[in-house]
Amino acid sequence: MDLKAHIRAVPDFPKPGILFYDISTLLAHPAAWKETVDRLAKVIAPFKPDLLAGIESRGFLTAAPLALELGLGFLMVRKKGKLPGPTVPYTYDLEYGTDTVEIQEGAVQPGQRVVILDDLLATGGTLSASVELLRKVGGEVAGGACIMELSFLKGRDKLDIPFESLLQYD
Ligand code: AMP
Repeated sequence: MDLKAHIRAVPDFPKPGILFYDISTLLAHPAAWKETVDRLAKVIAPFKPDLLAGIESRGFLTAAPLALELGLGFLMVRKKGKLPGPTVPYTYDLEYGTDTVEIQEGAVQPGQRVVILDDLLATGGTLSASVELLRKVGGEVAGGACIMELSFLKGRDKLDIPFESLLQYD
């Protein structure tokens, strides 16, 4: 199945000059979405995960059904202030300013093999911050995967983990 045919590219969203790859149309098509999850399951199998992490917010949509299919636990990497109870933060640099991601304390046991999921890899900043956050709490980050990768941005060069994507855009 041609999964790219189920993804809508929206010009100038959320700001002028950005071509936004929208998975709403993929999610709305059960057969295409099932194939996406099945193909992700295949590419992450060699990473031998104990646990899957999804990055807010489309990473949740990607990782949660995959975790269910693989019989694994799922945890949320969220923006600051969204998770209840004690959390562990990681602050990283953006082009202008900083951003902070968090997970709940105790969500990862030291040495657990975690695989991180998001819908799309662009510059790699979000995924590499999530890697550092999971390492900070003792997780072993076994790999990362996305449905889409904007290859021309070379985000994977920023990652020091094995990384897989289903669809590449130049
Ligand atoms: P980055 O940190 O630059 O790799 O950006 C990745 C994050 O931003 C992911 O959570 C994506 O969902 C989102 N993102 C960045 N660029 C796009 C795009 N062109 N289309 C859809 N989502 C994007």
